[in-house]
Amino acid sequence: MKPLQAGNNETIALRLQEISQTLPDEVRLIAVSKTHPTETIIEAYEAGQRTFGESRVQELVAKYDELSSMYLDIQWHFIGPLQTNKVKYIAPFVDMIESVGSRRLLDEINKQALKHQRSIPVLLEVHIASEESKGGFSPSDLMEVVEHLYQFAEQYTGLRLCGLMTIATNTDDRGILEDEFAQMQNLWQQIKGSGLLAEPEYFTELSMGMSSDYPIAIAYGATMVRIGSSLFGSRN
Ligand SMILES: *Cc1c(COP(=O)(O)O)cnc(C)c1O
Repeated sequence: MKPLQAGNNETIALRLQEISQTLPDEVRLIAVSKTHPTETIIEAYEAGQRTFGESRVQELVAKYDELSSMYLDIQWHFIGPLQTNKVKYIAPFVDMIESVGSRRLLDEINKQALKHQRSIPVLLEVHIASEESKGGFSPSDLMEVVEHLYQFAEQYTGLRLCGLMTIATNTDDRGILEDEFAQMQNLWQQIKGSGLLAEPEYFTELSMGMSSDYPIAIAYGATMVRIGSSLFGSRN
């Protein structure tokens, strides 16, 4: 793909169309708008995009405050590292938290959601990549967490467990990526078939794949891809 020219309105619409054409109907595009200004989000919105991914609390809250009254049907997904003490700022409005990688975070999201009398859709982040820097549950901890949520389901009504998320290793090695996405697909199917879901009808999402690797993720069953730079250009 050609590099994106910054500030060219038509380019975002065009790029959105190009990317959408490569996605099967059942795969949802999360437009990762982190670091980009609200004007960029509006451009994508006007071209039909509704779901946006942000990875910093302060930035998400500022964008929500600016856009929510005008653009009622934008859906905000939080996809970055989340500190427990900041959950309260996004709990009133966030549409999904994709990056839940600890029990403490699950408990805090549940607590804050209940304060607002809502149930927040969450994905459990799985650490499958070789890099230590990435967050998430290890595959073995993941099964324990799923069991815990099931066992104490009546306490976790502030959460709606909707699936899994991962960030694959940052590599061009197709074999490594295929292996990681295949592991995720297996885990996802294992949980789906485990009988350990309080609300199995909501466990439908497998969020994996970014600009550089999303076609491979789709081949392994991704239902949501999170695309930033190929849509909006490179970040500073
Ligand atoms: C930034 C980010 C993306 C998008 O990455 P691109 O390579 O720009 O497509 C996807 N997922 C997460 C969790 C991110 O932080």
